[in-house]
Amino acid sequence: MYHAASDRYDGRVPYRTCGKSGLKLPAVSLGLWHNFGDATPFQTQRDMLRTAFDLGITHFDLANNYGPPFGSAETNFGEHLRRDFMPYRDELIISSKAGYDMWPGPYGQGGGSRKYVLASLDQSLKRMGLEYVDIFYSHRFDPDTPLEETMGALATAVQQGKALYAGISSYSGTKTREAAAILKSMGVPMLIHQPSYSLMNRWIEEDLLDALEETGMGCIAFSALAQGLLTNKYLNGVPADARINRPGGSSFKQDHLSEQNLKHVRALNEIAQARGQSLAQMATAWVLRDARVTSALIGASKPEQIVDLVGAMSNLTFSTEELAAIDSHAVD
Ligand code: NDP
Repeated sequence: MYHAASDRYDGRVPYRTCGKSGLKLPAVSLGLWHNFGDATPFQTQRDMLRTAFDLGITHFDLANNYGPPFGSAETNFGEHLRRDFMPYRDELIISSKAGYDMWPGPYGQGGGSRKYVLASLDQSLKRMGLEYVDIFYSHRFDPDTPLEETMGALATAVQQGKALYAGISSYSGTKTREAAAILKSMGVPMLIHQPSYSLMNRWIEEDLLDALEETGMGCIAFSALAQGLLTNKYLNGVPADARINRPGGSSFKQDHLSEQNLKHVRALNEIAQARGQSLAQMATAWVLRDARVTSALIGASKPEQIVDLVGAMSNLTFSTEELAAIDSHAVD
């Protein structure tokens, strides 16, 4: 029987208000994209979830297609909820998404149709054994579906009580402004955007962060560690158990480990060491240096990685010199 650590809210993980809403999210959230499907031992998954919650990480992020196979991360998470976390349901923010290919035929191929989005949410709730998710996202912008239809599906999910809040992922700044305005006209605020963001991938700085500020949305940044590149794990070769060697449709490819990239990673590692942080900690802290970023949405394959990343919370500020040094190794 699991008893959550009594000191889980002792301040190791700060909480940040999500945009102009009343919802607070932990500055570090745990994503279940990898390492919660059927290929990962159930006990390893359990250890990671317990470690995260015991440290004060209250937000777990899923999607219909997380696994492998698709759907298995939600099914496994449902089992962890039943065994360990149901007594703590009101302490948790659980999210899911619909947008990518899920089931055969014209209505399961992803995108943003009302048919697909609402059927997918029902399937996610069933797999997790939940009556509602806290946040439900449109996982990607679908150019083949009117935005009104996709936003209408999100509004329905909220109005039916199957989601408490609505969000979007990887929409451009322009489409974010449009989506937020449409949803607002339907009486539902847009809570949050989930974009990729790391010190090597800064696209959200061009326009998206401004759009989020204007519309009052929060931001939860994924792949702040560039799927493991911005850690010390590839500094001396490729470890056998690294993501790059695992099945599961990862987009982390061998060419990310080019000599040029590794040269920058080694230099970044030295900057991190001078700050008294691991590179993974510095990369996490870096996305959180901007107050508009509500949470860093990290992935992990072991509990120790989660402990390491939470350690980043004790130093989230950067000097001008440190930022310039990072820029010189992270921006072309
Ligand atoms: P990260 O960039 O956080 O990479 C996670 C990987 O980094 C881990 O699997 C691990 O690699 C390595 N790692 C983590 N911590 C450490 C550490 N302390 N020391 C050394 N290595 C470490 O993010 P992900 O790409 O996994 O994405 C995180 C989450 O974001 C996902 O689970 C999902 O919830 C969300 N996401 C959303 C997307 C969207 O379209 N909305 C797309 C992608 C992700 P290893 O496994 O090799 O040990």
